[in-house]
Amino acid sequence: MLNMIYATEPTLTLALTTKDWLGLTYLLAAMLFYLGLKMLSKVTTARRGNLVSALGMLVAIAATFFQISGGESISLIWIVIAILIGGGGGLILAVRVPMTGMPEMIALLNGCGGIASLLVASGDYLRTSDAQLAGLPWNTLLAIGLATLIGGLTFTGSLIAYAKLAGSKFIPDAPVQFAGQKVLIAVLGLGSLALAGVLVAQPSAWYVLFLVAVLSLILGVLLVIGIGGADMPVVIALLNSYSGIAAAMAGFVLDNSALIITGALVGASGIVLTKIMCKAMNRSLMNVLFGGVGGAVAGGKGSADQGEARSFTIEDAAIVLDAARSVIIVPGYGMAVAQAQHAVKELGQQLESRSIDVKYAIHPVAGRMPGHMNVLLAEADIPYEQLQDLEQINPQFEQADVALVIGANDVTNPAARHDTASPIYGMPILDVDKARTVFVIKRSMNPGFAGIQNELYFKENTGMIFGDAKKVVTELSAELSSS
Ligand code: NDP
Repeated sequence: MLNMIYATEPTLTLALTTKDWLGLTYLLAAMLFYLGLKMLSKVTTARRGNLVSALGMLVAIAATFFQISGGESISLIWIVIAILIGGGGGLILAVRVPMTGMPEMIALLNGCGGIASLLVASGDYLRTSDAQLAGLPWNTLLAIGLATLIGGLTFTGSLIAYAKLAGSKFIPDAPVQFAGQKVLIAVLGLGSLALAGVLVAQPSAWYVLFLVAVLSLILGVLLVIGIGGADMPVVIALLNSYSGIAAAMAGFVLDNSALIITGALVGASGIVLTKIMCKAMNRSLMNVLFGGVGGAVAGGKGSADQGEARSFTIEDAAIVLDAARSVIIVPGYGMAVAQAQHAVKELGQQLESRSIDVKYAIHPVAGRMPGHMNVLLAEADIPYEQLQDLEQINPQFEQADVALVIGANDVTNPAARHDTASPIYGMPILDVDKARTVFVIKRSMNPGFAGIQNELYFKENTGMIFGDAKKVVTELSAELSSS
């Protein structure tokens, strides 16, 4: 009987079309992106998060590849050539670029994303006939204009950011500002937005889109050239967000959900990162974009007002370290420049072998990009548990015997707590001055990014150890091990 019922029951078949499969595969890719992004927010899972996101990208590329091979009027050979060029270039960059060159590399990658969106949107526009263009919905036409506009300014803006970070002879590191610059930026920005609107009203007016592209390229240069080189990491985070928005726009043009989702993710995470960086520096985004910080020495007390700094020898410092029970290591930009992270790890081990408690204090904007110190210390295999962020470590400085500052400057300047004239006033700092003894390793009395002298260097409990961070740290280890 039962058999008969089953035999007569209609079978439910789920027939999926190629488009459905594509949609599902893109959904899988998007889920991998989300997961990867979530994992990136924790030091312990960040490395795997990167791999998960890369897997998502592989899935999305494979899906697109099969979509093309299944009927699009494009020769596969072009896709293979593009993958070889893009993938090969990416591989070379990933292998060759040093950790300190990451900000430059990200600037270049953002630029590539921007120009890709511009080319995809305008290329799709140019290959569409006038009759088809006239039938396009207004939002697709607007997306073409916006992908071109945002993609263009991201491209040139990123190139300028790259040149500033790479110390190009042609683009000065200091902010390049001139009278009427902000007005010009506003006119160009509003003008190109208006032109994107004109394209909606006159879909076949290709010269309007051309004009949007030209104006956006100029706009990118003007926006970034006025910002100081050391603020480039914030600019790069912002440009990263722009490149995501441009990609999402290109996704609307192509009706590609993977591109829309990825673009939106990049756009949102880039803007969140920008906000975090501004907050950690206690500066507004407007101040970063139009304040022209990073050129001349600004505000705050100079060294003449503060007395003499005391210089320590390696041997003297090693004696103090040897007698300590707890040491907090504070890395900064100078450690990155000197590539001293491996030497720092050895010193840490050397101290631990003497039963000294060692921790690392990580300021959110130490170095020149977010997570700069985490990345370098992780590269040297320093255990994650020893890395403590600002809120965790600050209450511990009072109990620490030694705070060993390695190439950090602004993030340790007590002026941020009380000197209202200081450009870093209000920035949360690491309270290293509260440790019993503070050693600062740097090459000279020169200021850091903010261009101001550091009060810390003139305090009674502070000793300066002058020299390159890697050299000094290596010598300290050697001295300790021989004692
Ligand atoms: P700083 O830029 O304040 O100081 C770095 C110090 O490192 C310098 O004073 C320099 O002194 C020293 N130094 C350079 N090279 C070496 C070397 N080879 N060996 C030893 N010391 C060296 O760095 P911090 O990390 O303290 O602060 C970061 C600054 O960058 C903050 O002002 C922050 O606002 C800003 N910033 C950070 C961003 C981020 O995302 N992380 C983004 C944008 C700005 P000397 O020349 O005497 O050796």
